[in-house]
Amino acid sequence: MASSNAKRCIALCAKLPALGAEACFISSPANYRYLSGFSGSNAKLLILKDKKYLFTDFRYIIQAAEQAPEYEIVKENPGMELAQVYEALKANGVSSLAFEDAKVSVKAFPEMKDAFPGVELRALGSAVEQLRMRKYEDEVEWLRKAAAMTDEAFAHILGVIKPGVSECDIAAEIEYHFRKRGSRASFEPVAAGGPNSAICHAQPSLRKLQHGDMVLMDFGCEVEGYLSDMTRTVSIGRPSDEMKKIYSLVLEAQSAALAALSAGKKAADVDAAARGRIAKAGYGDKFGHSLGHGVGLEIHEDPRLSPVSEDVLDEGMAVTIEPGIYIEGLGGVRIEDLCIVRKGGYEDLTHSPKELIEI
Ligand code: ZN
Ligand code: ZN
Repeated sequence: MASSNAKRCIALCAKLPALGAEACFISSPANYRYLSGFSGSNAKLLILKDKKYLFTDFRYIIQAAEQAPEYEIVKENPGMELAQVYEALKANGVSSLAFEDAKVSVKAFPEMKDAFPGVELRALGSAVEQLRMRKYEDEVEWLRKAAAMTDEAFAHILGVIKPGVSECDIAAEIEYHFRKRGSRASFEPVAAGGPNSAICHAQPSLRKLQHGDMVLMDFGCEVEGYLSDMTRTVSIGRPSDEMKKIYSLVLEAQSAALAALSAGKKAADVDAAARGRIAKAGYGDKFGHSLGHGVGLEIHEDPRLSPVSEDVLDEGMAVTIEPGIYIEGLGGVRIEDLCIVRKGGYEDLTHSPKELIEI
């Protein structure tokens, strides 16, 4: 039976004729991990219909052989990297090659052109990113595990939050929690209290939490390269009436978006379900970011859920639903779940409670 990586390569190769290419050349980390399983920091893949090469340097030879058994591993000789790829192209009679036009730098492109004489270079476009949008079930399982570990971290952190603890303490505790469980934070955790919670992606500060603060926490972890993403906002003691109202509104907006979420729906329409609710209550200009984004090997990937998105949601896509309202000087509320789009609905991977928790 073909492994997941092999299946992904088959799906990619099926797209090559339409691009006018016989093979493709991949060198961006998320894409080479997706197609090979290799998680090191340097690799180039040359993928042909019936042959696959992984080029990497001395440091990663053993790891590459373990993680990418379907690939012929080639050790790069310093200064000869592209010449070695060219040798493989010639050995297989490749005359047209799709490359990652959205990732290759202005400097690297002419170097590649010079190194591959007689080979037509074609734009790969977003062929790999499109495949990555719809998750296979093994990818869903890793996201599910990452989301479960994120729920556990939230339950743990509720016992840490109290007046006098700093935002940095919270962020550090979250990272430590993941590290001890063999994972790592999928991005630098956001922990923002009081007025700082009005800054969507606040950098944790040494400000100490106070009675009456809203505390917004946005974080996630990694399992097999797959990343989770969740936001919860809690209050220390009783929140002000306005914050209470805002919290209910954000929760309502999230429920409205979730109710609209299913395969076949336009991403912009799901965004509108939440945004309409918030705008109707008079807070439209306080929800300045998009509703959500795809998640996988990268924390922000396609599809995009925003008013200008042209993406249509499909089965197996992993997306966040994260409306928020931010009042400068007062505080903010965001509630974010990670969901898998399904036929007729969705599977919510995030199980942490959403009713306002008063600590
Ligand atoms: Zn997030
Ligand atoms: Zn997010």
